[in-house]
Amino acid sequence: MDWNKLADVLVPDENVKPLEYYEELYPARDLPQGAQVTRLAPSPTGFIHLGNLFVAIANERIAHQSGGTMYLRIEDTDLKRKVDGAVDAVKNALRYFDIRFDEGAEIEGAANNYGPYYQRERAEIYHAYVKDLIKRGLAYPCFCTEDELSALREKQTAEKKITGYYGEYAACRNLTEEEIYANLAAKKPYVIRLRSQGSAENKLSFRDEIKGDITVTENDQDVVILKSDGIPTYHFAHAIDDHFMRTTVVIRGEEWLASLPIHIELFDVLGFRRPKYGHNCSLQKIDGETRRKLSKRKDPELSLEFYRQEGYYARAVKVYMLTLLNSNFEEWYMKNPDKALEEFKFSINKMGKSGALFDLNKLNDISKNELAKLSAEEMFDFLAAWANEFGTDAQKAYFADREYMLKILNLCMGIGGKKRRKDFTTAKQAVEFIAYFFDETFAPEYAYRFDKETVKKVIAGFKAVYDVADDNSAWFEKVKGVAAENGFATDMKAYKANPENYPGSVSDVAEMLRVAMTGLTNTPDLCTIMQILGAERTVARLDKALAIL
Ligand code: GLU
Repeated sequence: MDWNKLADVLVPDENVKPLEYYEELYPARDLPQGAQVTRLAPSPTGFIHLGNLFVAIANERIAHQSGGTMYLRIEDTDLKRKVDGAVDAVKNALRYFDIRFDEGAEIEGAANNYGPYYQRERAEIYHAYVKDLIKRGLAYPCFCTEDELSALREKQTAEKKITGYYGEYAACRNLTEEEIYANLAAKKPYVIRLRSQGSAENKLSFRDEIKGDITVTENDQDVVILKSDGIPTYHFAHAIDDHFMRTTVVIRGEEWLASLPIHIELFDVLGFRRPKYGHNCSLQKIDGETRRKLSKRKDPELSLEFYRQEGYYARAVKVYMLTLLNSNFEEWYMKNPDKALEEFKFSINKMGKSGALFDLNKLNDISKNELAKLSAEEMFDFLAAWANEFGTDAQKAYFADREYMLKILNLCMGIGGKKRRKDFTTAKQAVEFIAYFFDETFAPEYAYRFDKETVKKVIAGFKAVYDVADDNSAWFEKVKGVAAENGFATDMKAYKANPENYPGSVSDVAEMLRVAMTGLTNTPDLCTIMQILGAERTVARLDKALAIL
């Protein structure tokens, strides 16, 4: 077989350049000793998920902590899965979490010397290497049809053999020169396959940056490297790209471990030095009795869009991800709660080897703590940004009166009080939490625990003495007065000693007023709420509550 001739026929010289050209075009990067080059290489499917963020944070830390570079590459070889706007979705989702790329697909202002960063725009480089492999007898055209391949799969399954295109089953591996040219002359569609040199009998030991020393079975599959439309497969493209983009470390999900033998062989036959690979554990959750991987179909929290829509505070999500990524992060963070997260020394060898348990409740706790560190102004900006993008018109309008909103936030966050309140978990929940401060969204259910007559007397009694100028203690004296008038205990000790002597205590009276004013039984300080709402609105709410009794 004249492989040189076949290579020239299948990949004409005018379509490619000599291999040295690419080595010169993409020289070794000029970076300080020890600097790492990492990447995020999502497929543009439009679905960017927590697993992507999980590895993005690790890759970002490894690159930037070492003075290296992190780039964004779009692996768009599979057109069927491509979705319009997917690259923007990736960038927006990651920007929210402050993941910075130094270069890559649509990273403006960067030199982008190692591009293009969309795989479909790199066809020429892939073709040059396909040509080289054909010349060396390490790749060949395969004319098998879909039907033939399914028949092969069925036969292998029936015979309980490993399925795939390999060894004796790789029919086109041994086509004669005449057969190949006859097929080409007949314009039969073809793919290019790797002529695997491996054997499934052989085991390889491999050093995974996260999992340590692992044993993998050598690849023996003649995998497709170029599809019939001339577009490479992900496996082939990624090996060439990681080489020419001068990637030094790849942290990716452990679902890629199964493809590792193929990648090892591809790097070997291409004559490239492999980057270091670390396969990161999957994110799991407890579902009833079982522990399972987060699933796209069942778990909305897998999608990164979920965190933006719900208004999770980006730092909180990052803190939680770092907690799951590095076993010593939690302790560091406890000692350094206010430091920039970049100050933590991230290390690959502190990454977990097996599944990380992702618990939304834990994230919610972290979120409460993180939000409790903000000033009212910072909270205003955070909530306003969320409302602007995801809120209803009424919620957007909350932010028109800055002074009013700041008063609400100061109260609800317990700023100036003895202890910060931790009522806010996400922007969405916080904005819903404060709805009662705005007449347009004040929709009380008035769930009183006392009979109508009593409630009526309490509210009317309070309204008669209410004065907006009262300070907290004057206000409370008046509530006590109303309690006493209606036979409720004003002395909690006396009440606790003989609860049966009273219909209830002053705190029950306060609760009636609270429900009347806010529709809720549990709120921050009611006197301050009345002050924030102001006299007119307070009286109107008391009237409204009376009207339905
Ligand atoms: N394109 C692959 C993905 O969508 C990336 C695999 C890798 O990082 O090597 O996840």
